[in-house]
Amino acid sequence: MDRRKTSKPMPELPPPSLRLRLDDGALAANWRALDAMSGAAHAGAAVKADAYGLGAGKVVPVLRDAGARDFFVAHWSEVPDVLRHVDPAQVAVLHGPVRAEDAAYARSVGVRPVINSIAQAKRWTEAGGGPCHLMVDTGINRLGLSLADIGDPAIAALDVDLLISHLASADEDSPLNARQLARFRTVCAEIPAQRRSLANSAGIALGPDFAFDLTRPGIALYGGVPRGELASTIRQVAYPQAAVIQVRELAAGDGVGYNAAFTAAEAMRAGVVSLGYADGFLRCRGPGVLRRGEARLPLLGKVSMDMVVVDLGTAPEVREGDWLDVPFELPTQAEASGLSQYELLTTLGRRFRR
Ligand SMILES: *Cc1c(COP(=O)(O)O)cnc(C)c1O
Repeated sequence: MDRRKTSKPMPELPPPSLRLRLDDGALAANWRALDAMSGAAHAGAAVKADAYGLGAGKVVPVLRDAGARDFFVAHWSEVPDVLRHVDPAQVAVLHGPVRAEDAAYARSVGVRPVINSIAQAKRWTEAGGGPCHLMVDTGINRLGLSLADIGDPAIAALDVDLLISHLASADEDSPLNARQLARFRTVCAEIPAQRRSLANSAGIALGPDFAFDLTRPGIALYGGVPRGELASTIRQVAYPQAAVIQVRELAAGDGVGYNAAFTAAEAMRAGVVSLGYADGFLRCRGPGVLRRGEARLPLLGKVSMDMVVVDLGTAPEVREGDWLDVPFELPTQAEASGLSQYELLTTLGRRFRR
C-alpha cells in the first residue's frame, strides 16, 4: 500500500513521559538582574542552540517581553525560530556569512550577519551590504577578525552596527581579561560603530568597565552561575521531570540493568524511569539520585539509553505514571558530573516536552 495516499489523520499522541518545566518568571528575572548589573549598557540575549536547549520558541518571547532587544544565534538554521518573535534587525548570526548563500539569506530576511574576517566582509559587501555586526578577536583565537586586519579597506567599507569581541576567561580571575579589555578599547577607537559589546554572562560580573553599550548573557539567563558574584542573584529556570514507567519488586541477589552493575542486598522496590543517556542524562550523572519531593531516590546500576532504575525505598507511594524530578541546579550538578553547566543544558534531549 502506498502510505502517501492514505488520508486518515494521525491520531493525537498520548502525553510524553519526559517534560521540561520552564520557570518563565525566573527567566525574566534573570534577564532583568543581568540588565541591571550591566549598568548603563543594555543586556541582549544569547539564544543559540535553541536557547541553550530550553526551546527558543518559549524563551525568546519571555526575554523580549522582559525587555531584551538583541538576540544572538550561531547558525543560520536557528534564525527562523527566533524571527517568529522579534524583528529581523534584532537577530545577529554569530557564524557569519561563510558562504555566498548566507549573505544572500541575511539580505533577503533582514537579519544582521556577524562579520568575522576580511573574506566575510567582502562577501557581505558584494552581496549588497547593509548594516552588519563585526566580531574582532582580542585573544580567544576562535572566530573574529584578527587585530592585524582591522585597518583593511574591506572593513572600512562596512556599516557596523555592533562591534563585538568575546572574552576567553571571564569565568576566571585571569590577566587575559584586562588584556582583552585593553585591546578591545583600541579596536573601538579605530573602527566606527553604532554600539560596542564585550561581556558574556561572566563578563557582566567583571564590572562596568566590561559592559560598553550592550552585554550578551547566555548561560546565566538559564540558571547557570559562571562566577560566584552571580550566585545570589541567578535563579534556576529549567526543571526536567521523568515518569516512572514500571515499578518492580526486587529479591535479594537480583541484578539491575546492563551488566548487573547493581545487585540488591535484600528485597526492595525499584522504579524504572523514562530517562536515559539519549535524553542527555549521561552516565557521568551517576552515582546520583532522582527526587520525589524531598525524597532522594538513588540510581541503581547503569544509565541505559531510554531508562534508569531508582530505589523507591524512600518513596513507597510512587506508582507507575508518577513524575520524578531530575536534579538540575546547574552549578552543583556540573560539579558532581564533571560536565559543564553549558553541557548540562544543551544536551537535554528532544524527547523532553518543552
Ligand atoms: C555564547 C556566546 C555568548 C554567551 O555566553 P555565556 O557564557 O553563555 O553568557 C556571548 N557572546 C558570544 C559571541 C557567544 O558565542
